[in-house]
Amino acid sequence: THFGFRTVPLAEKQRMVDEVFHSVARRYDLMNDLMSMGLHRVWKDLLVSRLRPPKSARAFKLLDVAGGTGDVSFRTVEAGGAGTTATVADINGGMLGVGRERAATLGLADRVEFVEANAEELPFPDRSFDATTIAFGIRNVPRMDKALSEMRRVLKPGGRCFVLEFSRVDVPVLDAIYDTYSFKLIPGMGRLVTGDAESYQYLVESIRRFPVPEAFAGLMRAAGLKRVGYTPLTGGIVALHSGVRI
Ligand code: SAM
Repeated sequence: THFGFRTVPLAEKQRMVDEVFHSVARRYDLMNDLMSMGLHRVWKDLLVSRLRPPKSARAFKLLDVAGGTGDVSFRTVEAGGAGTTATVADINGGMLGVGRERAATLGLADRVEFVEANAEELPFPDRSFDATTIAFGIRNVPRMDKALSEMRRVLKPGGRCFVLEFSRVDVPVLDAIYDTYSFKLIPGMGRLVTGDAESYQYLVESIRRFPVPEAFAGLMRAAGLKRVGYTPLTGGIVALHSGVRI
């Protein structure tokens, strides 16, 4: 592969991931729309509907890990009542900066906060959130097991953890189309919009290396989460994984 990720040390992998998102932060939201043909909106809305933030003023605190420019958090506070608040934690200041600007524009700055943090070492006390999410983020984290146990640790008992991530297309024909689309078209689109094909090449490769859903469910169980399950979406292009802290 281009970066040879299998052989590089974990710290090095994180550095390369950071570089990717620094270089794309400004154009990230536009690229998401183009590359997923708008589907990321549908997948995120599905995640929010599973989160079911209360419509009332009852407090509901979401931690959105690797939350980037804040998409999942904005959608959640907009779906919930006045008591619903969100914390976006991301390792990348560039992505968070874009997120803060969006929060101000949307008039949500008092309900969504942005914190620079590594998913492997969350700077929050035990049992402090009603739900934790990570959308299209966990495959970038070098030690996924640490991120999952951190996402469990900060949950209140009864709180739920959701992971939205690219998965394995399991529909004939769609899998061939998807392969052509992701390997041939995505890096080219990345170059056109951000001037950076390599970053997108990396993203496509990281999707291939991500564990199949059953294996990922095993990682969630190993992190101590219970009632672990997953739902394939759009023919398996992505999967929504969930677990509960008992
Ligand atoms: N969740 C957002 C969304 O769905 O639009 C952003 C997803 S973006 C594909 C991946 C994000 O993961 C980037 O913002 C990147 O900075 C972040 N990230 C990568 N490694 C991380 C780590 N170790 N801890 C926290 N965030 C990380």
